[in-house]
Amino acid sequence: MARLIKGMDTKLIHAGEPEPLIAGAVNTPIFQSSTFEYSGAADYHQLRYIRLNNTPNHDVLHAKLAALENAEAALVCSSGMAAIAATLLTLLAPGGHLLAQECLYGGTHDLFARDLPSLGVEVDFIDPDDPDSWRAHLKSNTRAIYVETLSNPLLQVPDLAAIVDFARHHRLTSIIDNTFASPINFRAVEFGFDLSLHSATKYLNGHDDIVAGAVVGNAELVSNIRRKLNLLGGALDPHACFLLNRGLKTLAVRVRHQNESALKIAHFFEQHPAVTRVNYPGLEGHPHHLRACELLDGFGGVLSFELTGGVEAAERFIANATVPTSAPSLGGVHTLIMRPAVTSHAGMSRDERARAGIADGLIRLSVGLETCEDLIEDFERALRCS
Ligand SMILES: *Cc1c(COP(=O)(O)O)cnc(C)c1O
Repeated sequence: MARLIKGMDTKLIHAGEPEPLIAGAVNTPIFQSSTFEYSGAADYHQLRYIRLNNTPNHDVLHAKLAALENAEAALVCSSGMAAIAATLLTLLAPGGHLLAQECLYGGTHDLFARDLPSLGVEVDFIDPDDPDSWRAHLKSNTRAIYVETLSNPLLQVPDLAAIVDFARHHRLTSIIDNTFASPINFRAVEFGFDLSLHSATKYLNGHDDIVAGAVVGNAELVSNIRRKLNLLGGALDPHACFLLNRGLKTLAVRVRHQNESALKIAHFFEQHPAVTRVNYPGLEGHPHHLRACELLDGFGGVLSFELTGGVEAAERFIANATVPTSAPSLGGVHTLIMRPAVTSHAGMSRDERARAGIADGLIRLSVGLETCEDLIEDFERALRCS
């Protein structure tokens, strides 16, 4: 009988895995082979070749990632930016128009603000909290609308139901970067988005040891994006595929733990006199708290905050904290801390950052899997010496 695969945790372990097992191995082996014996494929994209994203290690991930968001199809890519770039270059030709949330991951913002326009694609940034304003930006050539589940680094939650409705009504492709939520906290395709994108570098892999990306969604769209990715060359290599699949197996236990620790840490910072502001959607004071409760199964492992002493205090705090490592990136087992102004959002001008509400002294924290009490004790001490 076929294996029973229903719940999220079961899917993470078993969905997409070969049946029967290969030589009885409980893990899918790494197929370290660039090319495969010709078996009569008539279409170039059906030839088995690593760049064409169709080796057995790719196939397992595609089926597993689709299952996690109850989607028709998925595609892994060499990085999150490869997933984002391949998706937009597939959907938007010169003369096309994109609507995108203003506050975005720095690399995405850079791509939208500079690179897409240089290819003849128009981009308008919208306030995701003001649905009435979206219609005014709509044009006859508008093709897609792009948002993030939890914005980086302010953890805003757009009105995701309104975005999906707006896209359907105006026949736009709705795209969401679901990296910060992961399918544990939000299943974007099941919710109604056409495409859910991930930097699999973050929660999906979760161990800070590879760079990878994923596109999840409608089968026809994913197939078109795969064709483009095959030609752009952004394939994930089989060893990284293996590591990503290994990381995925613990996604649910990791993210649930990180949800719990981050909420405790957000409460700690919120009551501390040296902290002026904490951005975490799990806090009642967060402007999108109720929406986050409605939409998400957890608030995620990332929060950001500002200290009374501004940039200098932030620098001292980062230097004084001993458990976290000061590094960009997020979503892994290690707690990472950094200032977006000099790392993830350094590609934006100071003006662009100010407009997006990102203060130079803002600190972003990605909570890992260390003992939560150790982290809080460490932060308490670091704040005392800051
Ligand atoms: C990191 C990140 C990306 C880019 O992913 P890479 O894997 O570094 O290319 C895109 N979106 C979000 C929200 C991210 O955090």
